[in-house]
Amino acid sequence: PPVVVIAGRPNVGKSTLFNRLAGRRSAIVADTPGVTRDRKDAEAMLRGRLCRLVDTAGLEESAPETLAGRMRASSAAAVAGADLILFVIDARAGITPADRHFADWLRRQGRPLLLIANKAEGRATESALYDAYALGLGDPLAVSAEHGEGIADLMREIAEHLPPERPDSEGDDSAPLKLAIVGRPNAGKSTLLNRLVGEERMITGPEPGLTRDAVAVMLHDNVGPIELVDTAGLRRRARIEAPLEKLSVGATIGALRMAEVVVLAVDAVEGLHDQDLQIAKLIEREGRAAVIALNKWDAVADRDAARRAVADRLETSLAQMKGIAVVPISALTGAGIERLLPAVRRVHGIWNTRVATAALNRWFEGALARHTPPLVEGRRLKLRYMTQAKARPPTFVVFGTRAEQTPEDYRRYLVNGLRDSFDLPGVPIRLQFRGTT
Ligand code: GDP
Repeated sequence: PPVVVIAGRPNVGKSTLFNRLAGRRSAIVADTPGVTRDRKDAEAMLRGRLCRLVDTAGLEESAPETLAGRMRASSAAAVAGADLILFVIDARAGITPADRHFADWLRRQGRPLLLIANKAEGRATESALYDAYALGLGDPLAVSAEHGEGIADLMREIAEHLPPERPDSEGDDSAPLKLAIVGRPNAGKSTLLNRLVGEERMITGPEPGLTRDAVAVMLHDNVGPIELVDTAGLRRRARIEAPLEKLSVGATIGALRMAEVVVLAVDAVEGLHDQDLQIAKLIEREGRAAVIALNKWDAVADRDAARRAVADRLETSLAQMKGIAVVPISALTGAGIERLLPAVRRVHGIWNTRVATAALNRWFEGALARHTPPLVEGRRLKLRYMTQAKARPPTFVVFGTRAEQTPEDYRRYLVNGLRDSFDLPGVPIRLQFRGTT
């Protein structure tokens, strides 16, 4: 679905607006404990249009010191993949220099945008609305996220500003696959991006500073378009000799939220680091499909040993993404690159999988018979049936008496079974439990 990003300086009420727009649907999406608790995106149905709402508030903590830096760092990735930006200001506080600065930056991004004057309940906000016109971002829409005022109109405006609906956009081959490249500093992400895109397109164009925050790059393979999202940071690094940077968790999460599939670039000379696994866990937490690009393969002396070490490490430390494809490449020489996008396409297909309910329940009966559900507080759990609630990533719901009390090891047994039986390697699998009476 189209992506709607809520942006603005801290405390203008982004999260309240997010909750207001996401409504109860997001509460349902968020009932897997530990996994989705701090999620800041949700699918929402606004006036009959399904969209994905992204709240940039959660990205602020891990970003740089200054307010301006923090706003940009937290929003750059999200904004790059946005189909529509909701730029929120605080109508009570009025327009601040930070709002102006952010507005200037947003205007340069050239993405569709709605200006929202929040906290506009009651009166006493008219001067702020006048100031807001002067931002040059169109007419402000006055709302109160807290009190629900103006929200119906806002939803209509959002629905009208979304890109035209595609029939059956889920699994639609003509829609670009959204791909991000993530990894530790120096893993070779920029080199890989250059390799995928072709050098000439990277070097041409205006001076750094003008386009360095600009957005996505489109590739084409024999299946269709692939949109490389969040290339801003990578392009920047490709042009300017920057000192070795620290891993930015905030930026990584931002990129993940914009992507369907993620290429995790790993330096094969160094092997899998804890930080690589940390990123892989973020990928899992965000529910994205992934491929590991084992880069700098040209510089690896003992390839068998390197391959084995990576496989062992994944086996022991990343069971949640079991079967993830590992593609040795050299971004520098181009060797092996031709295998990367096919692996991306494959895992994208898996991520989109829908299993028929009948087949699912045939399997489920067998799984229950092979391994009886345990006793909980002296009583046998009665798990009855299963459905797939959604794809992207595959998400299943088990119903049964006190099903929500199903212990962790039995949950894991079911997830592993689903993965093996329905051939779902390299993607997170969500399993939820609903008690029935
Ligand atoms: P980033 O920080 O992840 O974007 O990494 P860069 O793309 O800037 O690459 C970091 C360093 O690794 C640079 O010196 C690259 O030339 C080098 N590098 C990248 N890919 C390869 C590769 O496939 N083989 C070798 N030998 N070096 C590479």
